[in-house]
Amino acid sequence: MSFLTLTDLSKSFGDLPAVRNLNLSVEQGEFVSLLGPSGCGKTTTLQMIAGFVEATSGQIALDGRDITHLRPNRRGLGVVFQSYALFPHMSVAQNVRFGLEMRGIKRESGDQRVREALSLVRLDAFAHRFPRELSGGQRQRVALARAIVIAPPVLLLDEPMSNLDAKLREEMQFELRAIQRRIGTTTIMVTHDQSEALSISDRVVVMEAGRITQIDTPYRAYERPENRFVSQFIGKANLLEGKVLAYEDALGEIRVDLGHDIVTTGRLAQRAAGQRALNIGDAVTICIRPEKLKLCVSGNGRLPATVTSRFFLGSQWLYRVQCSLGDVLVCCQNEGDEPVAEGQAVGVDWANDAIRLVEMERAA
Ligand code: ATP
Repeated sequence: MSFLTLTDLSKSFGDLPAVRNLNLSVEQGEFVSLLGPSGCGKTTTLQMIAGFVEATSGQIALDGRDITHLRPNRRGLGVVFQSYALFPHMSVAQNVRFGLEMRGIKRESGDQRVREALSLVRLDAFAHRFPRELSGGQRQRVALARAIVIAPPVLLLDEPMSNLDAKLREEMQFELRAIQRRIGTTTIMVTHDQSEALSISDRVVVMEAGRITQIDTPYRAYERPENRFVSQFIGKANLLEGKVLAYEDALGEIRVDLGHDIVTTGRLAQRAAGQRALNIGDAVTICIRPEKLKLCVSGNGRLPATVTSRFFLGSQWLYRVQCSLGDVLVCCQNEGDEPVAEGQAVGVDWANDAIRLVEMERAA
């Protein structure tokens, strides 16, 4: 049995179904991110696990125990919210100790635990400072220390890095993951930042309008998005419309006519149980990531194209090119060479296994 299990968990605010029949099993020590656009129900889900929002229906079980109707303080979970609200009149050490005192832990053993928690977040030297004397990243780490000092079975993080600038955020992401690995606490993080979720999670739970659309490892969610929404929400996607010419069920391989005399092969992202097989002539949408497309010398490749604009991303160049399939994005590694000029004629190519099927519609 999994460590934390959400079963058919739902929450409605009046007529609004904020979370609908959510099923999720989290293993002990796992780092799982809830990812999705604003308003999709991420925070509501986290708040139900924390016990601050009561579920309309469904069940939450922790280590085999039903905690659905337990008060938040009886669940003993560690929580770090967006506004990490440190007490301004208390020092760093006092802020961290606060959670222990609430649990009646004695001063002497408490002191040791506070030191350990501050050491974990590398703030040993800051124990006597006040929150106003700390940077945003340091305050964020105090909030984290305050949550982990109680050694919670589950750590719940709601956009814990939302107030940090991009550079600090990246540093904190590495640090958070390292701390989580060291203490081995099962962690659930809410974020709308897909790169953050991909870089530090064991699994991502992609949500849309209160429902889960895909649960997967970050790599699989990116490489094998199961539907149009996931393909566009995680990373950049070129979506192309076509018709099935041939379909090999055992291999999950399809041959697709994209029109304009372009025929390519692709793969099903993943055939879910019960999902129907494809028929010849079915309309499909396929996804190809910009970095799976290659620019080549005009006259080569699968299609002729013209570069309409380009964007420098530092380690990469992102090109927008016009071709018979429409406007597509092509991402090329910056090898230090001069980039392709806007207006230049080029060829576009891709490998046969680069294409993923994300949507299908039965032929009439
Ligand atoms: P964000 O990324 O913007 O924080 P989210 O995915 O965390 O969004 P939730 O905060 O869970 O989304 O909200 C889900 C839906 O429920 C939204 O439509 C929101 O307006 C609604 N909602 C949340 N809390 C309440 C509440 N207390 N009363 C009424 N509606 C609410």
